[in-house]
Amino acid sequence: MQRFPTAQDAAMALRPDAPIYCFRPDVLTQDARNFMAAFPGETAYAVKTNGERLVLETLAKAGVDTFDVASPGEFADVRAVAPKATMLYMHPIKAQSDINLALQTYGIRTMSLDHEDEVAKILRIVRALDLDPSTITLFIRLQTKGHAAYELSKKFGAAPAHAVELLQRCHNIGFKVGLCFHVGSQIEEPETYERALASASWVRSRANVPLAGLDVGGGFPAEYGHDPRKRKPDMPSLGEIMGRLRTDIEEHGFSDVPLVAEPGRVVVARAFSLIVRVLLRKGRRLYINDGIWASLSDSWTGKITLPARFIPDPARKRRNGDPAKITAFRVCGATCDSVDILSRPFWLPETVDTGDWIEIGHIGAYSLSLRTRFNGFYPDTFVEVTTPFDAGEAPEGYASLETMAD
Ligand SMILES: *Cc1c(COP(=O)(O)O)cnc(C)c1O
Repeated sequence: MQRFPTAQDAAMALRPDAPIYCFRPDVLTQDARNFMAAFPGETAYAVKTNGERLVLETLAKAGVDTFDVASPGEFADVRAVAPKATMLYMHPIKAQSDINLALQTYGIRTMSLDHEDEVAKILRIVRALDLDPSTITLFIRLQTKGHAAYELSKKFGAAPAHAVELLQRCHNIGFKVGLCFHVGSQIEEPETYERALASASWVRSRANVPLAGLDVGGGFPAEYGHDPRKRKPDMPSLGEIMGRLRTDIEEHGFSDVPLVAEPGRVVVARAFSLIVRVLLRKGRRLYINDGIWASLSDSWTGKITLPARFIPDPARKRRNGDPAKITAFRVCGATCDSVDILSRPFWLPETVDTGDWIEIGHIGAYSLSLRTRFNGFYPDTFVEVTTPFDAGEAPEGYASLETMAD
């Protein structure tokens, strides 16, 4: 992989017409280690967030030895780079053949579920393979309510009374049991975890069976951009969320239970940026060579303002507008689909024009993993970049009020 100090250097050297992912392995290592140091339990990286080989390899090297997986493809990807790693199969609704593969071929011994029919499916395979249920831990997935950029509890999770029943049922069969929840992604208020922990505590006291673990899921927020005309939104830092989480865990009596977290976004978001090119400027619209069917679908569904850095093409000699004036541009994606328009603008100098590049920061989560080949566009070029995206001068749409004022 070619290596550059900054994305600007990469753009100048390569003058790329196709999108380029700028990978920052040191940032990934640092963010993974920060999380592991802050969380008082096992850190299981959620592979779906970004399952690229170079990501899994870097994480394994950084000391991540547990992975949250959901499919045979993810089992294989983790096994290929980290043969000794523990895999937690935390998808509550699984194909029988996948349960069999997980237990028999991959030696996976931890799964989640939210319904008695899933218990029956698992038990049938456990019996057929002649496994001792007490070697397997089943996490009962709890329904949660809260506000996240992405609400995921609509789909999975047992209501508290149902979870009590499931805990007892699995315990009585002889499985080890735990409780898990996943509050959604990009959680912006720490109370969300508190509510889930309160519910878990209620379930635990009613079920009255020994708990082998409590898995608090993912959802830890990454930092993105914001409208630079407005005050920076009050976002709790990872430290603040963790502080609250530790207190809440204690208050709800879970200090004696082994903990697991499944972070995705917060670990990998900062590790990538994306260089895109402006294919055409039409007034306040920029048509770029990526979009919602490639790297930018997460920002579209989550209505996230992405931080952007302007990389002007030095070959353009004449420009209109004031380079100091930061303006909102509507961003249209590369495909012919008319919904391929970002839900949030990019904040860039007024002078941006056809042929210029934009570095979009903090794009490591749910970008590469959600790419499609729709319309024949599939970004797949990588370079390594050594300087963090947020180093130096604040990028546009990421600037604080203070930097906007001067
Ligand atoms: C997606 C997912 C995660 C990771 O979520 P982030 O918001 O990226 O941290 C963790 N656990 C489960 C069960 C998930 O589905």
